[in-house]
Parts: sequence; structure tokens; C-alpha cells
Amino acid sequence: MSLRDELRASICEASGNDPLAGFYASKEVKDQILTVLVAGRHLLLEGPPGTGKTTLAKIISRLLPEMQVIKDCQFNCSPEKPSCYHCKTLAEIESETVTDRFVRIQGSPEILPEDLVGDIDPVNAFKYGIDHPLTYRPGKIQKAHRKILFIDEIN
Ligand SMILES: [Zn+2]
Repeated sequence: MSLRDELRASICEASGNDPLAGFYASKEVKDQILTVLVAGRHLLLEGPPGTGKTTLAKIISRLLPEMQVIKDCQFNCSPEKPSCYHCKTLAEIESETVTDRFVRIQGSPEILPEDLVGDIDPVNAFKYGIDHPLTYRPGKIQKAHRKILFIDEIN
């Protein structure tokens, strides 16, 4: 099940209860947010500091159920469908449960593209191949796979 489907199911199951409890906004704003999420679309939060953007993103991430991931995988591969090189080559898959599905990136001016998308070691790329685990160091975006990615302060 995709993250969008998981979010949609969680919101629809909460009928009667406020899925965004703890986030203080008008009913109209909350309905707009929930409509976007149920429709499986993206949500861009914009506003001055202290208006609850981070709180809202954390509340949305808490709507997601816990998930099973392959132990020690940096990409949060699903045990049913491993997708990275490391997990595809495992003889025996050991899984673990992850409850925190929120990843925050502080978008400071010092942040580098490598911090976001990862980095390739060219020596290991020639030695082992481009998809070997020693070749590629994942960034925060890959670590947010199957989670809510919250980027704070895009400048
Ligand atoms: Zn993996």
C-alpha cells in the first residue's frame, strides 16, 4: 500500500473524529487540508514562524500506521518488495517495525545537494559498480522513503 493510500485510509477511518486534532485552525482550513490528503495530492505549507506548520506535518505523519522495514536498510525497503541493492541481495530478510514516519530537513544556507540526494564515491563506483552499497551514501530524501518529508525553510 502506498503512503497516499495509507494516509487516505487513516483519514477515512477517523470519521467523526478530527484526524487533525492538536492542530488549531478553522474547520474550513482543516477540511481543505484533509481534502488534499484524501485526493492524494501534495500540500505546500507557507506562513510566518509559529503558525503550526511543523506541528501539522507531524500530526499528518502520526496518521500513518507503523510500517515494516527491512532491518538496517537505509531506504526503508518493504520486506514484501525490496528495492535497493542491499536488500535484493539478502539471503534472509529480517524486518523491524518503524513507528516514526517523519523526516525533517532544516533548509539552512549551508545545506548541500549531497545532504539531500546523497553522494557517490567514484573510486568504489569503478571498483564495485554503481548500485553497490559502498558506492552510494543516501541523503535525507532517500531516508524519507515511505515517510513524510518535511523541509523547513526552503530558501
Ligand atoms: Zn533496502
